[in-house]
Amino acid sequence: ATMPPLLSAIANAGRHGVLVKSAVVMERLGQMDAVALDKTGTLTEGAPRLTDVRPLPASGLAEDEVLRLAAAAEHPSEHPLARAVVDAARARGLDIPPVEDFDSAPGTGVSAVVDGASVAIGSPARLLGGGRPHPASVVAAGLEDEGRTAVLVTVDGDPVGVLGIADRPRPDAAATVAALTALAGAAPLLVTGDNPRAAARLAEEVGITDVRAGLLPQDKVAAVQDLARAGRRVLVVGDGVNDAPALAAAHTGIAMGRAGSDLALETADAVILRDELATVPAVVRLSRRARRLVV
Ligand code: ADP
Ligand code: MG
Repeated sequence: ATMPPLLSAIANAGRHGVLVKSAVVMERLGQMDAVALDKTGTLTEGAPRLTDVRPLPASGLAEDEVLRLAAAAEHPSEHPLARAVVDAARARGLDIPPVEDFDSAPGTGVSAVVDGASVAIGSPARLLGGGRPHPASVVAAGLEDEGRTAVLVTVDGDPVGVLGIADRPRPDAAATVAALTALAGAAPLLVTGDNPRAAARLAEEVGITDVRAGLLPQDKVAAVQDLARAGRRVLVVGDGVNDAPALAAAHTGIAMGRAGSDLALETADAVILRDELATVPAVVRLSRRARRLVV
């Protein structure tokens, strides 16, 4: 017997390393006419490395002490930025003390009690709030101008240092953006929790002009819903816990599997098991081919 077109398309997607969870999903993938892409871990490799440790002079802390506290607080986190911090601390031979009361706020950062002190690490804009400018924001802005993601480290609420972290675009990011633009008939949108400077730098490198930065998970959902209200069928590609609500709100959601969070993998309609972004346009094409055979 010959297999129904949508089922053989699913089998084909599997050969491309994409797990499509149902025939309905396989059919919907080809209907998309708008695309929203996450930045960290999706358009970038998601293997960021620590490039800078800048203690604030007022803290009196040395580089290694700032890094040790940050790594301890990040240790329980599955975020790519957390891995960059922990790996750098290990590479410097620092011991990473155990923590209590770990907490994470998707799109913002993490906190934990280290050596009896409350340590937080995350987005400088969110941790510093909208009050008067802090010397830490100047340090952070300098790193962001170089295309880095800057994260702030605070101890008992006081900023003690800023870390610079750099991630590379995936080798197939620019080609994928071009292919999705052609398939959707519209340029993809970049939706990211990262800062506007680092986001603009990456967007330029991969050929995206429409950038929404500094977004919380619910802001990503709002961006998808705006497009849906305008009658668009939005394909969302993301990897993190912070992307799960947007993946759920999408017409179809695809998760990057290798480094993806459990929540993103469960929520998504399809999962990229091989670490290749270019499989996204490939499955859209498979869907369109199958639908031509079905109807
Ligand atoms: P993206 O949308 O590009 O995947 P996220 O929403 O995961 O980015 O993160 C947005 C921002 O929140 C980061 O740039 C960082 O400032 C902060 N952040 C989130 N999680 C962490 C973490 N574990 N450690 C440090 N900063 C974090
Ligand atoms: Mg991400």
